[in-house]
Amino acid sequence: MEQNNTHTVEPTPADLKRENKTLSARNAKLAQLLTASKRKLQDLQSQIDSLAEPASTYGVFLAFDRRGHDAEVFTSGRRMRLKVSPNLDRSQLQTGALVRLGDGSLVVEACGYPETGNTATLTERIGTDRALVSDHNGEEKVVQLATPIAATARAGDTLLIDPRAGVALEKIPKTEISSLSLEEVPDITYADIGGLDTQIEQIHDAVELPFAHPDLYKTYELQPPKGVLLYGPPGCGKTLIAKAVANSLASRVGDGAAPSWFLNVKGPELLNKFVGETERRIRLIFERARELASAGRPVIIFFDEMESIFRTRGSGVSSDMETTVVPQLLTEMDGVESLSNVIIIGATNREELIDPALLRPGRLDVKVRVERPNRNGARDIFTRYLRETVPLAAPAGELIDAAVEKLFTPRPYVELELSDGSREVLHYSDFISGAMISNVVDRAKKLAIKDQLAGVSDAGVTATHLHEAIEAEQDESEDLPNTANPDEWSRISGRQGEVVISARVLR
Ligand code: ATP
Repeated sequence: MEQNNTHTVEPTPADLKRENKTLSARNAKLAQLLTASKRKLQDLQSQIDSLAEPASTYGVFLAFDRRGHDAEVFTSGRRMRLKVSPNLDRSQLQTGALVRLGDGSLVVEACGYPETGNTATLTERIGTDRALVSDHNGEEKVVQLATPIAATARAGDTLLIDPRAGVALEKIPKTEISSLSLEEVPDITYADIGGLDTQIEQIHDAVELPFAHPDLYKTYELQPPKGVLLYGPPGCGKTLIAKAVANSLASRVGDGAAPSWFLNVKGPELLNKFVGETERRIRLIFERARELASAGRPVIIFFDEMESIFRTRGSGVSSDMETTVVPQLLTEMDGVESLSNVIIIGATNREELIDPALLRPGRLDVKVRVERPNRNGARDIFTRYLRETVPLAAPAGELIDAAVEKLFTPRPYVELELSDGSREVLHYSDFISGAMISNVVDRAKKLAIKDQLAGVSDAGVTATHLHEAIEAEQDESEDLPNTANPDEWSRISGRQGEVVISARVLR
C-alpha cells in the first residue's frame, strides 16, 4: 500500500507577514493609481464643462447704479444693469473701461479700454464729464468722457468714440493741431518795423482804437472791424505788422503782463485733399481761438498766403474746393462777434484772387497795402538792423546812405516785351524788400567777421562790405521773382493794362 507522503506545510508567521506586506504595498499602489485616475477624470470633466460654458461677452462700463452696487454696462447694443463679481476690484471699473461678462452676465474682469471706434472732434465741454462732439459729417452728439480723459479733453481735440455706447474713450493725437503753430506773441513791436509808418497808423486806427475804447464805439454805434487784410509783395513786413499788432493789443488789455496769442496759419498747410478736412481745420482754429480768448487775452488769427485757400468761388483754379471752404470761414468770422478779443489778419500778395465776400463790411473790411520800400523806407529799415551797438567802421548814417545808394543804383534784371510792342526793363531796385535789406545787413556783418578772423581789419562793417553784400544778395536772392511766365510778369510788374508777351531775365 502506497503511503501518502504529501503533507501541507503550514506557512510560518514570517511568511504571512511578508505576504501581508506585499499585499498592502500593492494595495497602496492601487489606491494611488485610483486617486490619480480620479483626479484625471475630474480634470477632464471640468474641461468638458468649460467647453460647454457660454463664451464671454464684453461690454463698456458706463457707471455704477444710483446705489453704487450694480454696474451700468453697454453690451450687445443695449444698456444693462449687471451684478459685479465680488472678486473684482471695483476701483478698476471706470467710465469707458472694457469689461468681461461671465456666466449670468456677471461683470468678472476689467480689460483696459476699447482701442477702436470712430473719431470725432470735441466741440464743447458740458459739465465735468460730458462733451459735445461732431463727426466728419458735422453731425453732433453728446457723449460721456471716459475717466482717463475727463480732466484733459478740450475743444478741438480729436477723440476716439464709441458712438453706440456714447462714450469718448481716448484723445487721438493729430498732427495738424500742433501744426497750427500757436505762439505766445513774439516781442516784435512797431518800433522794429521800418518804412511802414502810414500802414501802421492805418492799422492802429482800425484795430486798436476800437479795442482801447469799446464804449465810444458802442456810443457811436460803430462795429469794430473783425479783421484786416494786409496785401503787397512778399518780404515787406506783413507778418511783422500782424505780430506787432498782437503785441500792442496785449499791452492794452489788463495790466499788459499777459501776452496775447498768435495763431499763425499758413494757407497751403490748411489745404487737405480729403473732403471736409480743410473745413474741419478752419473750425478747429476758431474753436482754439475762442477758447484762448475766453481767458481774457487777445488772440490774433493770422492767415498767411490767404489767396491759396480762400479764392474767389467758382474761379475753378483748384477743384472748386473754395465753394465750401470760403463759407466755412465766413460762418466762423461772423461767429467771432461774441468775442471782441479775436482779430483776424489775412496776408496775401494776390489780393485780386481773394473771394470778395471775405472783404465785405464786418469781415476783413480794412485793407492795408504793404508796399516795397522807397529810398526813405529802405533807409528806415536799415536803421533797424545796422545799429551803433555792433562794430561799424563809420557812423551808421553814412554806411546806410552808401548802402541805400548802391541798392537803388539801376541794375537791369529783366526785360519785358509788352503787347503794344514796347519793351521795358525792370531793375533789381524794383524788387527791394525789407527781407532783402535784413539779409544784406547779415551778409555784411559776416564779411566783417571774416575780415577780422583773417587779420585783414577789425574795424567792423564797412561800406565795401555792404556793397559786396548787396551784390551777392541780388545775385542769389531767392525772393526775386524768377519766372519765364509772361502772365506772372504782368502781375509782378504791376502793368495791369499791358499784357506782357515775353520776359527775358538779364543775368
Ligand atoms: P510773405 O508774403 O513772404 O509772408 P511778409 O510780407 O509777411 O512776406 P515778413 O515775414 O513780415 O514778410 O518779413 C520777412 C522778414 O523781413 C522779417 O522777418 C524781417 O526780418 C524783414 N522785414 C520785412 N519787412 C520789414 C520792415 N518793413 N522792417 C523791418 N524788417 C522787415
